[in-house]
Amino acid sequence: MLTIAVSKGRIYEDALPLLEEAGITPIDDPKKSRKLILKTTRDDVELVIIRATDVPTFVEYGAADMGIAGKDVLLEHGSDNLYEPLDLGIAGCRLMTAAPVDAPEISGRVRVATKYVKTAQRYFADRGIQADIIKLYGSMELAPLVGLADYIVDLVDTGNTLKANGLEPRDLIINITSRLVINKAAMKMKHQAIQALLDQFETTLANR
Ligand code: AMP
Repeated sequence: MLTIAVSKGRIYEDALPLLEEAGITPIDDPKKSRKLILKTTRDDVELVIIRATDVPTFVEYGAADMGIAGKDVLLEHGSDNLYEPLDLGIAGCRLMTAAPVDAPEISGRVRVATKYVKTAQRYFADRGIQADIIKLYGSMELAPLVGLADYIVDLVDTGNTLKANGLEPRDLIINITSRLVINKAAMKMKHQAIQALLDQFETTLANR
């Protein structure tokens, strides 16, 4: 059995066509079902539906053999204990700093609200900017509006969320796409099955 960890939402939606090309169609729809383990049209493959930030953890500990995770999550988690063989090019967006529209640049110490604590710390440190990073779990856009932070660091796709909250994108930290990650032991123990899937994904991506 091959277990693949995927998160609900955009990554799942974008991953479905890739999985389908490999003959993997979930039997239940995670939007309608509360099941966390989804059987698929392939007897030897199941999906586990978990939070995006938990995907690297499940794969690292072998609770899933492979997973699909955003580069944002992998940067934050650290991917030393995982194989990351393939950029799937799906769920694309940008990790950016953002601030209230027309707010002046801050010269001294800045306060930054984000759920990407490690990535933000690294980004500001690399630029010699002193930053106090405030960890939030959601609604980052609110932080500058209520005086909690000068900047936020968050994912931006269309920019509509920022705009709706009177914020504007400032600096690009990194372009984000979802990656295939593989448990190191599974890569050895289930090599044939995993390699076949990898080859299939690569062929599908090359034909896009
Ligand atoms: P947008 O309004 O289109 O710029 O989307 C921004 C909101 O969607 C933010 O709250 C992001 O955290 C979230 N978001 C955008 N793209 C992604 C993605 N690829 N994966 C997960 N969340 C995303």
